[in-house]
Amino acid sequence: MDTLIRGGTVVTAAGQRRADLRLVGERIAEIGAGLAANGGERVVDAGGLLLLPGGVDGHTHLDMPIAPDCATSDDFYTGHRAAAFGGTTTHVDFANQQRGQSLRETLTAWQRRAAGKAVIDYGFHLTIVDPTEAVMAEMAELPRWGVSSIKLFLAYKARGMMLDNEQFFRLCRRAAELGLLPLVHAETGEIVDLLEREAIAVGRVEPRWHATVHPALAEAEATQRAIALARMAGSALYVVHVTCRGALAAIAAAKAEGAVLYGESCPQYLFFTEDDLARPEFEGAKFVCSPPLRSEADQAVLWQALANGTLDAFSTDHAPFRFHDQKARGRERFDMIPNGVPAIEHRLTLLWHFGVNQQRFSPERFVALTATNPARLLGLAPRKGALQPGADGDVLLWDPNATWAISAATHEMAVDYDLWEGVAGRGKPHAVWRRGALLLEGGQWFGEAGRGRYLQRKTATQNGNG
Ligand code: MN
Ligand code: MN
Repeated sequence: MDTLIRGGTVVTAAGQRRADLRLVGERIAEIGAGLAANGGERVVDAGGLLLLPGGVDGHTHLDMPIAPDCATSDDFYTGHRAAAFGGTTTHVDFANQQRGQSLRETLTAWQRRAAGKAVIDYGFHLTIVDPTEAVMAEMAELPRWGVSSIKLFLAYKARGMMLDNEQFFRLCRRAAELGLLPLVHAETGEIVDLLEREAIAVGRVEPRWHATVHPALAEAEATQRAIALARMAGSALYVVHVTCRGALAAIAAAKAEGAVLYGESCPQYLFFTEDDLARPEFEGAKFVCSPPLRSEADQAVLWQALANGTLDAFSTDHAPFRFHDQKARGRERFDMIPNGVPAIEHRLTLLWHFGVNQQRFSPERFVALTATNPARLLGLAPRKGALQPGADGDVLLWDPNATWAISAATHEMAVDYDLWEGVAGRGKPHAVWRRGALLLEGGQWFGEAGRGRYLQRKTATQNGNG
């Protein structure tokens, strides 16, 4: 059914205006003042409410296996439902190559995970851990498969995922040839792994040691190095989950020199510190993610970087593991704790309340960070990330006065704890449309499994700005 949303305030990354918005089929047909009802559509009164573009989460891990008997606890249905409740209507997940696996096999395996379950729209970054000559050649196919970005690790040497400098440089050079955007997880893998082995060997096995063996300087070093290698290769670069002052300084300096460089951060790094890893009764395990939580001083510079443009996007790195039976795998030693935290549901509400309500930045900047910038950088514009005629009908009817309080007892994510338990705020989606279909209204769910669609993302070359 077509929908006419009347009397709201339309917010884009560039400004706000009072306007009506008409959804016809899967698209936004019109935005303007005084749009007339044609009789056949549903008319929604948006008085006092805002219209925002559906959120784009550029960094998630749904149904990601980390061992034969352990995968992230949200699949492509529960994770999508939780995302939509929080106002996210598009995400880009990761198709992780296994050693010896072709890129085609990798992408097909991950597309199967989403098939029949997806509610919101999705794409995949391709994680390359084994860049053989065959894989380097096969990269030429990625644009045709709708994959505009690759993920590269400078961390996780012991898990066989770390690239050396030559591999990283060659992959960035190949990405630049093809118009692909490389994403990097930047930590000095050799040193983190060494410190981790040494800590375990002397009996430092509690969760708090996870932060100690992942120093902020390791992230700063690898961020600096990744930027330099990408620039030498003539490639753009997107640094995922930036957590600390040193990494931000490296990004800001290279941006000032004109590097084609982007950075994201995630909610967990704005609200928690390494002290949370020392919570008693193994509760610290709930906060184990990599890079680890840092300091209050780092939180302050992250907020500034989100506001001033040093960072471009706000994603979640959503990687939920249940406390009682999954995080528990590391009860005897922290290096066995599955890394990751649940956040996909809370990205927009947390950033709105603690960013916009607390006057750290404007609603326009909020839209840029949560939707417009990730859509543009990840090859989804102009279909996603902005309210404009012709774009997909991914619309949030945002109530800036609605209050919320977070609890694992009431959240939608399929995980038995919530990092933000007890946190309250104001501003959340009252209704959510994905490609013109109502997913959610007034807390009632209308989404259907299997209706989310795989997105053909465009490379920089295909966008004509390569
Ligand atoms: Mn990572
Ligand atoms: Mn990740």
